[in-house]
Amino acid sequence: MVTSVHAVDDAAAAPETGITPGGTTGAFRDVLSKDHARRGKPPLHLADMSDQLRLEKAEQLGLPKFRIRQLKNHYYARLDVAAEDFTDFPAAKRADAAQTFFPELIHEVTRQVADNGTTIKTLWRLFDGSHIESVLMRYPTRTTLCISSQVGCGMGCPFCATGKLGLTRNMSAGEIVEQVRVAARMMRDGEVAGGPGRLSNIVFMGMGEPMGNYNSVLSAVRQISAEPPEGFGISARNITVSTVGVVPGIKRLTAEGIPVRLAVSLHAPSDELRDELVPMNKRFNTEQVLDAAHDYWLASKRRVSIEYALMRGINDQAEHARLLAKRLNHYGDNWAHVNPIPLNPIEGSRWTASKPEDEQRFLDILHAAGITATLRDTRGQDIDGACGQLAAKTRQANGTADV
Ligand code: SF4
Repeated sequence: MVTSVHAVDDAAAAPETGITPGGTTGAFRDVLSKDHARRGKPPLHLADMSDQLRLEKAEQLGLPKFRIRQLKNHYYARLDVAAEDFTDFPAAKRADAAQTFFPELIHEVTRQVADNGTTIKTLWRLFDGSHIESVLMRYPTRTTLCISSQVGCGMGCPFCATGKLGLTRNMSAGEIVEQVRVAARMMRDGEVAGGPGRLSNIVFMGMGEPMGNYNSVLSAVRQISAEPPEGFGISARNITVSTVGVVPGIKRLTAEGIPVRLAVSLHAPSDELRDELVPMNKRFNTEQVLDAAHDYWLASKRRVSIEYALMRGINDQAEHARLLAKRLNHYGDNWAHVNPIPLNPIEGSRWTASKPEDEQRFLDILHAAGITATLRDTRGQDIDGACGQLAAKTRQANGTADV
């Protein structure tokens, strides 16, 4: 159970390079842009700092220790970062405190609204001009924010818009957490159709492979789930961390003992097919991935989500559904929940969405085999719902190499 953000450590203060240990060869070759070094690091933010570093920064500003707690309260509980809101601070110190602890990390570029105002997709510009996105989706009983953890993605899945961008860099914990703070504030202030409400769920399913940026993602998970004033107080049980199958990351997450939900993007039931759809499979095959996912279930008793993008004529036939059911049932009952997702095709791609009758047959076969499966919601399809599409379009429109 997470009760504090002590794990915000110096590693989180210095965002990682984007290269996962051992990930520079074979199928797991991150595509770092050449100008990575030139980009430098995002400005340090309260959400990137250990308590010790926060204290040192406060001392430099001539602020006593108790001010740190006030700052955390502003950030995590009141969702404020503007100097004028720090009314409990001496007037002469407000601007310095805001500048030191809350530099602007994400700047809104565009916002697309769909589903009668209940889906809002935002494109953000980061300090180095790169772009990421997040999507807020309000449902009758919950509101979910889908967030990005890397600029682009180095996993190279050929059907995915983000994969085409390659990996530019990892995001800092502060850049990840800021997406949550802004969305929580939008909900609180009634900026989403349906009136004021509460952000209740977080899914790490935006741009990037969360396990490729493990330390920052874990730091963000702890800050999202800790109770105010240490975090936003969103239950870890309502946080989903997804992966394309980076087995060491799944194992690390299992060892953390935090009750987040794990989602594994499988997309194919056999190595032969998955090698083609998910290059990472050449490094960690389906057996290794499913073993690790099942171990997560054993340790956490949280059912694992198996994500499966249905692609017409590629992985959506009866034989695929039967093999998927067999592979999952091999481990026993009720440990996994399959989410087939109709692919939102990217322009000019040979990968396209399944026919509705094939989707239904796929689901029917899984159900008949005793596997729980629901066709995943495709919110925001009319606003470039597939991950990475909005950022990809912006890049094309700008004619730049920046993501
Ligand atoms: S499908 Fe996921 S892992 Fe694959 S390239 Fe796209 S964002 Fe990366």
